[in-house]
Amino acid sequence: MALSENTVKKLYETRTLSDEEFLALLTTDAWDTLLCSLADRVRRQMYGDKVYIRGLIEFSNHCKNNCHYCGIRSGNHCAIRYRLSKEEILSCCKEGYSLGMRTFVLQSGEDAYFTDEMICDIVSSIHALYPDCAITLSIGEKSKESYQSYFDAGARRYLLRHEAASDALYRKLHPENMMLSARMQCLFDLKEIGYQVGAGFMVGAPYQTSEDLLSDLRFLQKLDPDMIGIGPYIRHEQTPFANFENGSLTLTVRLLAILRLMFPHALLPATTALSTIAPDGRKLGLQAGANVVMPNLSPVSVRKLYDLYENKNCTDEESAQCSYDLKQYIRSAGYQPVTDIGNVSRT
Ligand code: SAM
Repeated sequence: MALSENTVKKLYETRTLSDEEFLALLTTDAWDTLLCSLADRVRRQMYGDKVYIRGLIEFSNHCKNNCHYCGIRSGNHCAIRYRLSKEEILSCCKEGYSLGMRTFVLQSGEDAYFTDEMICDIVSSIHALYPDCAITLSIGEKSKESYQSYFDAGARRYLLRHEAASDALYRKLHPENMMLSARMQCLFDLKEIGYQVGAGFMVGAPYQTSEDLLSDLRFLQKLDPDMIGIGPYIRHEQTPFANFENGSLTLTVRLLAILRLMFPHALLPATTALSTIAPDGRKLGLQAGANVVMPNLSPVSVRKLYDLYENKNCTDEESAQCSYDLKQYIRSAGYQPVTDIGNVSRT
């Protein structure tokens, strides 16, 4: 189907399109400039020129899952595994706090070593020390009771990418024991408990088609998340997908703009993966509507070990330097870095 400028304006005005229109928009670069300028207009209406900075702490790369795309999959016996102690995690928070950060994102593989009790202890310690900060968890699929216990301990946000809303694609990306329905249930459980919830997917994942991306957009409309994390798929040598191409920069940026138009309120990160596939990837992401960046607060000694994909960006610099550079970078892209708590704005 041939698209016109009016179709893009329709997305801006109504926040949705027909399946045929979405598919046409996903498969052409003809409207990218218009999409990005409308997306930038919407982000400025909702959030001004603010870009929120969240401190990311990757506290364990042990994982029981064996996702075919991921470098820290359980089947990668070459991966050097690490875990941070509670004290190390708290010292990352201390550093982040001194750099002005007011959100800490604790991410890990699905590591059974960290019992619910331990996670609650870590969360409540951070909460007691830094009551003015938001704590985000991204530690995978858990029972509703576990999610509730983390919430009661003080966590208020949870990131769990749905990865692929099409069952056929989900099955190609994951081993048989992983179920899309279980992952989706987790997202709805998290919402019901009262978390600000983040879903998302990789762009250009092996076997992914435009129809699969359309399923992702439709699923996100159903879930209506507060945060949406997307980034390009990037290959990793020690995975079964080592020979697949990386996802494309232009498609990722186009999708960010589409998501900004569909979900004006959403917090959309310009991800590390985006900056890994292109030096100006983050800038293009910000200019397409992304309004969050997550500099790494993990100790430099373990950063390279959280090895999801090859050439992961920002692994050598100390957190302070990294955060300083990122703030300069955000300003140079035309936006204002802010370290405050930055809750979702649905007004
Ligand atoms: N265990 C938690 C979970 O399952 O949500 C969080 C950690 S998981 C490694 C974080 C995200 O990394 C995944 O949701 C996935 O989309 C992304 N990721 C993994 N391998 C990747 C790759 N090769 N390229 C791009 N992103 C990747």
